Amino acid sequence: MTALLETRSVTQRFAGLVANGDVSISVDRGEIVGLIGPNGAGKSTLFNLIAGVFPPSEGAIWFDGADVTRLPAAERCRRGIGRTFQVVKSFETMTVVDNVIVGALVRATHMRDARRKAHEVLEFTGLAARAGVPASDLVPAEKRRLEVARALATSPKLLLLDEVLTGLTPAEARTGVELVRRVRDTGVTVLMVEHVMEIVMPLVDRAIVLDLGKVLVEGKPSDVVRNPKVITAYLGDRHAVGA
Ligand code: ADP
Ligand code: MG
Repeated sequence: MTALLETRSVTQRFAGLVANGDVSISVDRGEIVGLIGPNGAGKSTLFNLIAGVFPPSEGAIWFDGADVTRLPAAERCRRGIGRTFQVVKSFETMTVVDNVIVGALVRATHMRDARRKAHEVLEFTGLAARAGVPASDLVPAEKRRLEVARALATSPKLLLLDEVLTGLTPAEARTGVELVRRVRDTGVTVLMVEHVMEIVMPLVDRAIVLDLGKVLVEGKPSDVVRNPKVITAYLGDRHAVGA
C-alpha cells in the first residue's frame, strides 16, 4: 500500500526565509497524524503547500498515487484534499448551512444534493440547530466546527485541520477530539496541526514535529513527547521531568 499523502523534499522560501526546508513526510490511509511544533515552525506553510495555495520552491507532493505538485487548489480539493484555515474563513453574513453548501458544491452538481449533503454534515458536526443563523452569530468554538463542516462537505479523503482545537475550553476541546475520531471512523484520513500537546497526543496515531522548517522527530506520540530534542524545541521547561 502506498501512502495517501507524501511530501518529497519540499522546500518553501519566502524572500530568503526558509519556511519549509527539505520536508519529507507521509500519511497513510486511515491514520490520524499530528503535525506539531513551535510558532513559526512552518506548519501552516506545509498545509498551504499540500492544499495547493502555492507550489513549493522545490520538491514534490504526491496524493492518492499522483503527483499534484503543480495542480491548483481547486483541483486538489476535487481529488480529495479538504482543509480548514488557522484563521477562520467563514462567510459571516451567510447562514451556517449556506457556508457548508459552498463546500458541498465542490462535488454536487445540483443545489438539492449540495443542500442535502450540507444538512447531513451539520448533523454530524453537531451544528444542525444553528443551520439557519448567520455565521457571525456563532461562538468561536462553533465557528471552528463550521470550518470542519465545510471541509467535510467537500467529501475529502484527507482532511487537513489547522489548529481547530486551539483556544477552546477543555470541554469544547473534548468535543472536538471526539469529532476528529468520528471523522476518521468514517474512513477519512486526518493530518492535524495542533499546538496543545495534551489534547492532541492522545488522539493521534503518529506525531511529526517541525522545528525551524525541518522535521525534527517523528513517531508514536508517547515516544515523541519524551524525546529530549522535542522537549528542548517545543515543550520547554514546563514539561521537564518533575515540573
Ligand atoms: P506555523 O504555522 O508553524 O506557526 P508558518 O508556516 O505560519 O508557521 O510560518 C513559518 C515561517 O514562514 C514564519 O517565519 C512566517 O513568518 C513565514 N511565512 C509564512 N507564510 C508566509 C508568507 N506568505 N510570506 C512570507 N513569509 C511567510
Ligand atoms: Mg500556523
